[in-house]
Amino acid sequence: MEFIRDYADWFYLIGAVLFILTLRGLSGPKTAIAGNRYGMIAMAIAVLTTFFVADHPVIWMIVGAMILGAIVGIARARTVPMTQMPETVALMHSLVGLAAVLIAIAAIIHNNKLVELGPELLATNGVSFHEMSKVHLFELFVGCFVGAITFTASVFAYGKLAAKKWAKTISGGWVKPVQALIFIAMLGFGIHFFLSGSMTSFWAMTALALAFGWVWIAPVGGGDMPVVVSLLNSFSGWAAAGIGFTLENNMLIVAGSLVGSSGAILSYIMCKAMNRSIINVLFGGAMGGAAAPTAGAGEQVQRNYRSGSADDAGFLMSNADSVVIVPGYGMAQGRAQNAVKELANLLKEQGVTVRFAIHPVAGRMPGHMNVLLAEADVPYEDILEMDEINSDFPATDVVLVIGANDVVNPAAKDDPNSPIYGMPILEAHKARTIMVIKRSMATGYAGLDNDLFYNDKTMMVFGDAKKVVEDMTKAINGTGH
Ligand code: NDP
Repeated sequence: MEFIRDYADWFYLIGAVLFILTLRGLSGPKTAIAGNRYGMIAMAIAVLTTFFVADHPVIWMIVGAMILGAIVGIARARTVPMTQMPETVALMHSLVGLAAVLIAIAAIIHNNKLVELGPELLATNGVSFHEMSKVHLFELFVGCFVGAITFTASVFAYGKLAAKKWAKTISGGWVKPVQALIFIAMLGFGIHFFLSGSMTSFWAMTALALAFGWVWIAPVGGGDMPVVVSLLNSFSGWAAAGIGFTLENNMLIVAGSLVGSSGAILSYIMCKAMNRSIINVLFGGAMGGAAAPTAGAGEQVQRNYRSGSADDAGFLMSNADSVVIVPGYGMAQGRAQNAVKELANLLKEQGVTVRFAIHPVAGRMPGHMNVLLAEADVPYEDILEMDEINSDFPATDVVLVIGANDVVNPAAKDDPNSPIYGMPILEAHKARTIMVIKRSMATGYAGLDNDLFYNDKTMMVFGDAKKVVEDMTKAINGTGH
């Protein structure tokens, strides 16, 4: 144990390098598994080293909390369906925020207690204690309010993604002034706490930060949620880094900063993919004020469209030279990824070129489609990002849209009045034939009608994604009749 204490900085350095390698690994599907392993080793090194360098650790409490956390974590990891991953991620961010707040509170109460007992401790043990330094107060102030905002904002994001009734989108002229008022009051109390160490100001700042997290995220519209989720990821990292300063733990500072900056970069990439700015997303009441946030909530549209059977679609695809599959949230919802892979393999066997086109915000979290297709063992070289595939659509015989809607909505390009105008899309409408699998004519996440479904070149194939894809495979195999 002495050995670990003596070389703690070295262990932390190794952990930090491994965390950097983790991010590098996670940046590509082929290296992601190795990246995950680096992350696990780094985390084990970080936890064990911190455990041994701690002064007078209450072992039963730490081990008990770790066992409890591991039980909950393993149970959740084993049971969570892929469709609920986004809200699970949001919930995990909220825990990091809550941890930051609790650590800040504990650090302050602990220090106040020591100061109170100061003369007694000095007399009995010869140890003296001082008021917290200004730097420490500042770290606590920032770590605590960023953590509190992250906590309630993430809980709200969870509710919104899980379509909970209590996570209602708010709108109206009063929202921005209330946001500003709470923010200014929060900063005011925080600065007073920093200057005077007043506990009343500390509690007021924390309560206002909790309230701010809620009113800040509640007006953000449905289509902008991906950015919010990745931004909260970034916030949870900065909150952890702030607390790393409080606890004087270099590992936490490094790991928190890595999470904070990678989340910020991801937010930037997402914003670019949606043609929005962060400020516009968070404070602009974007997506037409309050876009429809509830997944699956859609309206029936009375316009003419063409529909066909899985057999018709199978026949068309097996006679095509090139097929591009565009997966969306419906593929995740219907757990159709394995069936889709079977279909793609069968078409390939028949000499058809099959590729997958991935929109950066398809599904309900960044990388949602990539994870599902990787799970189904679809070869990485068949999966193309939006920028790589868009120019190929005009020369594509068949585009098969599986449970995607907003990400192929041409209104984003053609209709300046559309709330999603300016958002880059997969240009499926330019293909020779388009086939769309979905259960009804209902709208997608942004709550908008989609002209692609009424296009002359489009054939709707209604039904659950998995069932329809399986039927298409049977039809191509000649066993479907
Ligand atoms: P959409 O939500 O636009 O559309 C999904 C479509 O799938 C629906 O129209 C639905 O139609 C259909 N569907 C649902 N379940 C099934 C099923 N079992 N079988 C067949 N079809 C099904 O999804 P997209 O992927 O096109 O777009 C993603 C949207 O989510 C964007 O607006 C994006 O901004 C938003 N978003 C993205 C996040 C991310 O990080 N990726 C996070 C949060 C939001 P029907 O009901 O008729 O079947």
